[in-house]
Amino acid sequence: MKGLMMHRPLKVADLITFAAETYPSGEIVSVRTEGDVHRTTYGETARRVAQLAHGLKSLGVKPGDRIATLAWNGYRHFELYYAISGIGAICHTINPRLSAEQMLYIVSHAEDRLLFVDLTFVPILERLAAHLPKDLRFIIMTDRAHMPETSLEGAFCYEDLLDGQPGEIDWPEFPEDQAAGLCYTSGTTGEPKGTLFSHRSTVLHAFSMCVTIPKILREGVRILPVVPLFHVNAWGLPYAAPLSGVSLIFPGSALDGKSLFDLMDREKVYSAWGVPTVWHGLLNEITQRGRLPEGLGDIVVGGSAASRSLIETFESRGVNVCHAWGMTEMSPLGTQCNLPSEMDQMAFDERIDRKQSQGRRVFGVDMKIVDDAGIRLPHDGKTPGHLYVRGNTITSGYFNNDEASRPVFDGEGWFCTGDIATIDQDGFLNITDRSKDLIKSGGEWISSLDLENIVMSHPGVANCAVIAVPDEKWDERPLLIVQAREDAQPQKQELFDLLAERVAKWQVPDDVVFVDELPLTATGKVSKLTLRKQHAGEAE
Ligand code: ADP
Repeated sequence: MKGLMMHRPLKVADLITFAAETYPSGEIVSVRTEGDVHRTTYGETARRVAQLAHGLKSLGVKPGDRIATLAWNGYRHFELYYAISGIGAICHTINPRLSAEQMLYIVSHAEDRLLFVDLTFVPILERLAAHLPKDLRFIIMTDRAHMPETSLEGAFCYEDLLDGQPGEIDWPEFPEDQAAGLCYTSGTTGEPKGTLFSHRSTVLHAFSMCVTIPKILREGVRILPVVPLFHVNAWGLPYAAPLSGVSLIFPGSALDGKSLFDLMDREKVYSAWGVPTVWHGLLNEITQRGRLPEGLGDIVVGGSAASRSLIETFESRGVNVCHAWGMTEMSPLGTQCNLPSEMDQMAFDERIDRKQSQGRRVFGVDMKIVDDAGIRLPHDGKTPGHLYVRGNTITSGYFNNDEASRPVFDGEGWFCTGDIATIDQDGFLNITDRSKDLIKSGGEWISSLDLENIVMSHPGVANCAVIAVPDEKWDERPLLIVQAREDAQPQKQELFDLLAERVAKWQVPDDVVFVDELPLTATGKVSKLTLRKQHAGEAE
């Protein structure tokens, strides 16, 4: 027997309408590419979103059209999220740090109709223009006074698009499984692949975030997403924030430690979200100034593993660290490691040990680990296996790419994350590697993340990576690559000794290579693919 409740489609635009009614003075503060700081509210934003939606319709945008953005974190980018999906079109965020070839591939694969671009990225597009589809139209995200001279044909001004349009709109009705957003993974292997989020998955993900991290996702809290709007929807924050009444502080293009510190200090940011490399930059600044930005109480770290030393340094200064794990294909949140209250009494060291894990699943994400044959492995905290997930916020296939989709689902329809992990009896997930980064030495697995974590605790190490290099006798051996702190010169032997204290002798890398800077991917993670090409002879 079916329940007798109404069925209303879950729609992204309802989140901003709700915020405008419930938290009309919730703030959105943006460092603009024009150079100043812009302040607005959810009430005002909902009006501008309506104007933008009318403007998009006036340009002929239809449901299902892909509308691309190439932009930093700022209020106009946020408005685009809502206006585009609100009228049934698809907001396709492009990562400006991708290579020219990847960007061209993505724009043509997505068949984008319009491309909204921040002032900073106009020169990139000018260089690519000859290779871009001829019917693609450009809208520059600024006002008339700041419109640049540009060779982009027919480039339109963002504020002109809103000018004179009504500040109210009756959002159209459509089924909740209609696509709302499109984001390509940064393509650390093969061509970038598109994850196509639906209205339903996006709204459910926002709900799931709000119930999972209620201590920070609540009315009045000021959150700074360093994680870009072009990288998996800034981890869902642009949707969870209006739902919970959180104020957003957008940093624009200035993402170095000093700029972030100043902005956080000025705006009394309570929580900030980003990948570990960002927090290393901020920590340098904190050490130099001998204090935290005023009001900082929480950071969310994800995208790659947070080292013990990173977690410990923030926590010892009274800043709660929430270590989270997820993927573009998962909208992205899978697990998070705010500890349950029964662990409040744990000793500091034990808490930090726990927080190094990626934490426990969020509602709606099921996880299993399996061996090479697909047989389920125990959740004993010891046995590593291939991590699979399923749920309503997880992709069911890549956009227009059956070939890439087929191999990533098992017979039961679970999605293969490509990560190797253990899960313990309490449900804590521990990612030990990405399957392609795993080192197989003499038939035994060596976790590169474990080794990196230990090396990061050396005071002279700014960043490091462990990769597999081919070896005649053992098939593969680990190689340690280290970026030293500016004022330090860690010695090889010190690093070997440090590792030998904590892991079996055969797991200690045979050599250390010191580099000035580790290569990063477009999403700010250490690029092991590049390192393997440079140091392990991997083919281009
Ligand atoms: P890409 O790196 O291709 O852009 P994503 O940004 O979606 O793709 O990255 C997802 C991957 O990042 C995960 O599969 C996992 O390997 C890694 N990752 C994300 N968060 C963490 C974390 N907290 N600890 C370890 N690895 C993580």
